[in-house]
Amino acid sequence: MSKRENESPGPEDQFSFVALGGGSEVGRSCHIISYKGKTVMLDAGVHPAHSGMASLPFYDEYDLSTVDVLLISHFHLDHAASLPYVMQHTNFRGRVFMTHPTKAIYRWLLGDFVKVSGGGGDSAPLYTDEDLFDSFERIETVDYHATMEVSGIRFTAYHAGHVLGAAMYMVEIAGLKVFFTGDYSREADRHLNSAEIPPIRPDILISESTYGTGVHEPRTERETRLTKLIHSTIEKGGRCLLPVFALGRAQELLLILEEYWATHPELQTVKVYYASALARKCMAVFRTYVNMMNDDIRRRFRDSSTNPFEFRYIRQLRSLDKFDDLGPCVMVAAPGMLQNGVSRELLERWAPDSRNALIITGYSVEGTMAKKILTQPTEIPSMTNPDTTIPRRLSIAEISFAAHVDFNENSAFIDAVGARHVILVHGEATTMGRLKSALLSKYTSRKGTDQEVKIYNPKNCVEVELPFKTAKVARVTGVLADKPPNEGQLVTGVLVEKDFHLSLLHVNDLREYSGITTSVVTEKQTVTVDAGPDLVRYHLEQMFGEVEVLSDETDEILVIMIMNAVRLEHSGNKSTIEWIGNVMTDAIADSVLAVLLSVDSSPASVKMSSKGTCGCHSHEHDEGLNGEANGHAKERSRIDEISALLKAQFGDCYNLDAEGQTATIKIENMEAKVNFSELTVECPSAALKKRVEAVLDRSASIVAPLTGH
Ligand SMILES: [Zn+2]
Ligand SMILES: [Zn+2]
Repeated sequence: MSKRENESPGPEDQFSFVALGGGSEVGRSCHIISYKGKTVMLDAGVHPAHSGMASLPFYDEYDLSTVDVLLISHFHLDHAASLPYVMQHTNFRGRVFMTHPTKAIYRWLLGDFVKVSGGGGDSAPLYTDEDLFDSFERIETVDYHATMEVSGIRFTAYHAGHVLGAAMYMVEIAGLKVFFTGDYSREADRHLNSAEIPPIRPDILISESTYGTGVHEPRTERETRLTKLIHSTIEKGGRCLLPVFALGRAQELLLILEEYWATHPELQTVKVYYASALARKCMAVFRTYVNMMNDDIRRRFRDSSTNPFEFRYIRQLRSLDKFDDLGPCVMVAAPGMLQNGVSRELLERWAPDSRNALIITGYSVEGTMAKKILTQPTEIPSMTNPDTTIPRRLSIAEISFAAHVDFNENSAFIDAVGARHVILVHGEATTMGRLKSALLSKYTSRKGTDQEVKIYNPKNCVEVELPFKTAKVARVTGVLADKPPNEGQLVTGVLVEKDFHLSLLHVNDLREYSGITTSVVTEKQTVTVDAGPDLVRYHLEQMFGEVEVLSDETDEILVIMIMNAVRLEHSGNKSTIEWIGNVMTDAIADSVLAVLLSVDSSPASVKMSSKGTCGCHSHEHDEGLNGEANGHAKERSRIDEISALLKAQFGDCYNLDAEGQTATIKIENMEAKVNFSELTVECPSAALKKRVEAVLDRSASIVAPLTGH
C-alpha cells in the first residue's frame, strides 16, 4: 500500500477547466475538464442569438480527439444542438451519454432545428438530417443514479429539475470529484423533481449562474400574476402571446393554464393553443415519460388513469395555416427567443393592437428579439422585410417560469454541495461577476482557513488550472492478502494500475486478478572460445568465485551454473550460455560473456597453457598472478583493473565517477557507491551491497593489494 499524501502536486496533478462556450455568457454551453490524462466534455450547445458556424462553441481552440466522454445535461439547444456537428464534422472520437428522455426529445428537437436553421438567414445549416440520424445511433443513455465507468472515468446522473430529462453529473477521475449542475432548478414544480443535492461532496462544483444575484418572486405570486394578466387581457378582447421553447417549460405553462381553465368555466369558450411544429411528437414524449417526473404528477396519473398531458382545454397547432385568428385567445408558441417562426409571426401580427399582451416567461438570451423587446421599443423590425418596422402597442410583461435557480437557491445549493472550488458558467458577464462577489463576501470569514471557498468566473477559452493531489491507495489482492501484514512489515508484489485502480498482487496472481499474462524470456548466446574447459572454468571462478559444476569430469561437455542464474555449456570450441532474462540476470550474463570473450587473450591463459598446469587448484594461480602484478602495476592501473572487472560484472549499470576514486552502480532505483581506496561499498539495499562486495573482493584478490592494504 502506498500513500503519497506528503508529496507536493506535480504537473500530472493539475486539474484543468476550459469553457469553449457558456463562459461569461448564456448560450453554446460547452466545457472541458481534464485530469490525469482523461478528458470529459460537458454539453455541446449553440448560441441562440447567432446562426451557422458563428453559433458554435470555440471548437477550433481544442483538440477534440482527446475527449474521452461527452455528457449532455439536457436537450435545450444551448446545451445539445451542436452535438451532431461535433460527432460528424470534427475529430471527436469519444463516447456520448445523455438520459433516456433527453435522447427521445433530442431526436425531434434537432430534426426541427435542422429545418429551421437551414430555412432562413445567410448561413448554411451546421449539419444535415443524415448527420443527425448517424450520430443519434451512437448516443448512449444513462439512468439517474446509476454510475457508469468509461476508461477510468466514473460518472453518475442526478435530477436537475429544469426540464424533463435534465441531469447534473458527478464525474470522478482518479479520485477527483467534479459536479456539473447543467441548468437546474430547486423549486417545486407541477411536473418535475427539483434538483438533488449530491450524496458525496465534490472537490469542484461547476454551477450555472443564469440569474446571478437576482431573486425570484414566490412561485404562487408569479402564477397569480400570470393568470390574472391572461384573464384580464381576454376580458378586454385581447390575445395573449407566450413565446416558449417548444419543449420543457412549455409543458409546465400548459399544466398551469389547463388547471386555471378547469376552474374558470367563463374562460372555457376561449381557446388555448400550443403552437409548435413538434407539438404532437413532444406531447407524446411527455406522456411516455410521466414515470420520470415528480411524485405529484405520477400520483395524478395513477389515480385518474388519464395522462396529465392529455389536455382538455389546450389545442395543438402545427402551423398557423389552420389557425382562425378571430378574437381573444391564448397562444403558447415556439420559438422562445422570437427570432423567427410562429411566435415571431404572431408578435408582428399582434404588436399594433394595445389590447394584446406579450408575456415573456423564459430566460431571454442577450442579442435576441425576446431580450430586445423587454426594453419596450415603440416599433419592431419585420422579420421578412428588415427595412419595414411595425408599431408596437401590445403590452409586454416578464413573468419568469424559466426553472433556473435564483441567488438564494443557488447559494444554498452551493453551501449544501460543499465544494471548495466553484466555477461559474452559463451567466452573462456582469450577472456572473455580481454573483461571484456576493458569494465571496458570504464566505469571507472562511478566507485563509481550510474551509475557504474559491470562486472562478472564466471567460471562453481561458483555462482554469487547479492543483489536486489524490491519495493513491492500492488494494492488496490474492495470496498477498491471505495474511494481514504486521505493523511496519514490508509487502512486496507487482503494482498493477488499471483505470486508476491500484492492486498489489503476487506475480502468480497476475493472470487471475488482473488478466495480465506473464511470460518468461529465455535468452541464449553462443561464442567461440578456443581455450579448453579448464581455462573457461578457471576464469569464471576468478570472476564469480565458486561456480556450480553440473557435468561430470568424464563428460566431454562442461556444464556450469553461474550465480544460480546463467547456465554455461562448453563443448569443443563453443561456449553457450542460457539465462532467464531480467535486469539482474542480464547483467550477470553480460559479465559471463565478457569473461568468455577475454579468455583466449588473457595472459593467465597463455601462461597456464604454456606451463600445462590446467586443472591445478586455482588458489595457487591467484598467488602467482598477484606476484606478477605486484611488481609492475601502479595504484591507478589497479583501480582500472578492478573497475574493468566491475564493469564486466555490472555492464551499463556501472559508472566510474569523474575523479576516478569512486564508482556508482545503479540498478533500477537502487544505487551502490564503491570506494576504491577503502575497498568499501555503501548501499541502502543489503542484497545489492552484498553482491557488489562479493565482486569487489574477488576483483581485489586477483590484482595487487592497494597501497596501505
Ligand atoms: Zn436549459
Ligand atoms: Zn441553458
